[in-house]
Amino acid sequence: MTIINCKLPFGVVKSIEDYSNIINEILSYNITFNILKFSTGTSGVNLLLDVPEKKVNMITQALKKNDVIVNKKGRVIVDDEKCIDCGACISLCPTDALHFNDNNQLEFSYEKCIGCLLCLDSCPRQAIEEM
Ligand code: SF4
Ligand code: SF4
Repeated sequence: MTIINCKLPFGVVKSIEDYSNIINEILSYNITFNILKFSTGTSGVNLLLDVPEKKVNMITQALKKNDVIVNKKGRVIVDDEKCIDCGACISLCPTDALHFNDNNQLEFSYEKCIGCLLCLDSCPRQAIEEM
């Protein structure tokens, strides 16, 4: 599976019906996918989708056709200066890319990170940033 980051600008999505129409269009392509995260920001609705790798192009075209802004898979970096090793981000990470070392200090594995961005909002110090 591959992670896709999408933004549905408020100009495109004015109501929940608009959102449903976009999701229904994707479903009409017979694509199964997971919505990992749904959040609203100042400029629109943000979606984090987990889609089959072979269907990435198809689903990207379907989203773009509906004026959805599609970003490629993200990655994060952890700012060691800001991190206080509280561990709040660890339980959200599905791949163990964020974990404690033997000294109870946070370690980040770039190789294990799949860019799901689930950890982004968990940090009380804003130490995790999208690359
Ligand atoms: S982006 Fe996802 S995989 Fe990467 S560190 Fe954060 S929670 Fe883990
Ligand atoms: S939530 Fe933030 S401060 Fe806490 S361990 Fe993770 S990166 Fe460090």
